[in-house]
Amino acid sequence: MDHKEQLVKAGAKMKADKLTVETWGNLSICDRERGLVTITPSGMDYDAIAPEDMVVVDLAGNHVEGFRKPSIEVPMHTAIYRARPDVSAIIHTHPIWSTVFSCMGEDIPVFHDEGAQALNCEVVRTAKYALPSTPELAKNCLEALGEASACMLMSHGAVCVGDSIAACFKVSAVLEMMAQLYQLIRATGGQPVPLSRENIAIMRDFARTQYGQR
Ligand code: 13P
Ligand code: ZN
Repeated sequence: MDHKEQLVKAGAKMKADKLTVETWGNLSICDRERGLVTITPSGMDYDAIAPEDMVVVDLAGNHVEGFRKPSIEVPMHTAIYRARPDVSAIIHTHPIWSTVFSCMGEDIPVFHDEGAQALNCEVVRTAKYALPSTPELAKNCLEALGEASACMLMSHGAVCVGDSIAACFKVSAVLEMMAQLYQLIRATGGQPVPLSRENIAIMRDFARTQYGQR
């Protein structure tokens, strides 16, 4: 499946999985060999988008192909691809559970095994607030993301990165599960018991090198 077709499918999944509402959020895939990014069009219904609605830009965000207006978050997507050579796909979602914490300007500690295996960090950070589409949002997002697989955007949503769209959805699912757990733990008046740095590193390595069918 080419990148445009993958994004059509992924957009429909993002909406069906309730990781966003209406037309918000955006998704992209980077062709590292050609230095080109295919990204979803701005403000279109994910159930109505066709491959030809996708837009191709270069890593500086210049228009290369497509007749639609690209997502307003091209600066954020291209900034991530420039800063993180390990990333080839990005999904920016507006999900419920992690956004609870991003709206409070809070980070989410990684206190759970799946989180340790999938998120590549000890804390999922919330980026400082900046308006959607701005270079400032891109800068704040990079700061919060660091080398992790996910971060949150204050009062806005989440950003999940990976080497494929499937990897991004996995990160997104784990982040949402952990955020939901965190919300329930906090609602009981409790606090999660932190995982040790050492155990987080062990689980991250295990997930990379041993877990699943090799
Ligand atoms: P686009 O529809 O332009 O991608 O914008 C949606 C969004 O989530 C902006 O942050
Ligand atoms: Zn958004």
